[in-house]
Amino acid sequence: MAQLYVCDIPLLRPPGQADLLQVLWCPFEHEPDYKPPTALFWRSSAEVTDILAAPPEPFAAECDGYVPQPCVLAPERITEYPHHMDLSKELQQQLNDGSRWQAIGVDNPDALAPHEFYSCELSVAPGWKVGGWPPWGLTDPVARFCAACGAGMVPLLTIASNEWDAGSHGWVPCEDQHLAALRRAGVANPPKVQVSKGNHLQLYVCPESPEHPHTDLIQ
Ligand SMILES: [Zn+2]
Ligand SMILES: [Zn+2]
Repeated sequence: MAQLYVCDIPLLRPPGQADLLQVLWCPFEHEPDYKPPTALFWRSSAEVTDILAAPPEPFAAECDGYVPQPCVLAPERITEYPHHMDLSKELQQQLNDGSRWQAIGVDNPDALAPHEFYSCELSVAPGWKVGGWPPWGLTDPVARFCAACGAGMVPLLTIASNEWDAGSHGWVPCEDQHLAALRRAGVANPPKVQVSKGNHLQLYVCPESPEHPHTDLIQ
């Protein structure tokens, strides 16, 4: 599903000497939540020998969207702000006040309403990412706690069904903007992954220990 090197993504917190995270999933939606179960494997890349030239294809899958097309990652460090539902009522009111945005000279070229501008351009970046914030929408915010120690869990990896859409063009990477301008189907989703009919699967880990079990969420 994904293979991430700590040297490319310093945000990762590996156990011990590990420097490589491999994320596997079963390409079928499992009951009771109808999502693909995932497994995380931390490895030391120096100890990985006999590397396969081509990843093996599964014998069967729920649908094509659960078998990613091989892609090379080009990680980019970004700042995203929390989903507006994760903010206090007071902050939400301040965000809806267009005069505050004007006062600090925010560039809003499409003249979006203040809450739209925050949602589309500043909070919860679309696409595959490590870290960041939960992309609420299917449900209201629900805190997630570690089954082993009770700590609040943090997002590890978002597996997305596209990198951007019509409402989030501001997040298109510089090198892909000529592709995005074509507005052709498929260019926004090179791995062609479709999770739970176009949603996101976000994996969460315990900040206290990478040995504690991870969990996940469809949004
Ligand atoms: Zn399965
Ligand atoms: Zn824990």
